[in-house]
Amino acid sequence: MLKLSNPIKYTEEENTFIANVLKPLQGEGWDDQKNKTKAIKSRINQHTLTEQKHRCAYCESFLLEGADPIDHIAPKSLYGEFTFEPYNLVKACTSCNNKPHKGETDTIKHPEDRNEYSNNTFSIVHPYFDDPDDHLKYADDDKIIFDKNKCSEEGLATIKMFHWEEPWAIAQRLINAKTRDLLPEELENIANIITYKERNT
Ligand SMILES: [Zn+2]
Repeated sequence: MLKLSNPIKYTEEENTFIANVLKPLQGEGWDDQKNKTKAIKSRINQHTLTEQKHRCAYCESFLLEGADPIDHIAPKSLYGEFTFEPYNLVKACTSCNNKPHKGETDTIKHPEDRNEYSNNTFSIVHPYFDDPDDHLKYADDDKIIFDKNKCSEEGLATIKMFHWEEPWAIAQRLINAKTRDLLPEELENIANIITYKERNT
């Protein structure tokens, strides 16, 4: 899992629009079709993609330009008020984002604070608020096999929710181990090759 620290900063104009137009719509604000909403979502997309160096915030798989979803750490179906909360937004791969993995899982511990996002505690490892290395421990230096006896409660809940002990996730961690030290340009080349191949097969 990535350790993130720099969420999107909205402009004053965007903040006003979110507060007055989108927040009252709760989770449905995300699918609002106004050009302004689309522009804000596009900015979130670009910002998170760049900050995450084109990797899924959770499993660190490569993300393809435009193809992968923006994930709401606390799902917008349950916490509509946090739909545009900067600390609630990450880019994720479709495997981690969708059912039967993360889906609409309630990730906030109760009682929750619906006014101030950062007052909440989370049942899974939070990429902005936690250091994943404190929660997810491995039996090997390549970070492929979990040492579950040493993982925190939140770490174990994260592994379980994402099904990270399934073969696809183990294979992903093998790829991560081989590509972790590549330069950003090299990663971008690889991402471009994968995108090209996907579009032409
Ligand atoms: Zn993922």
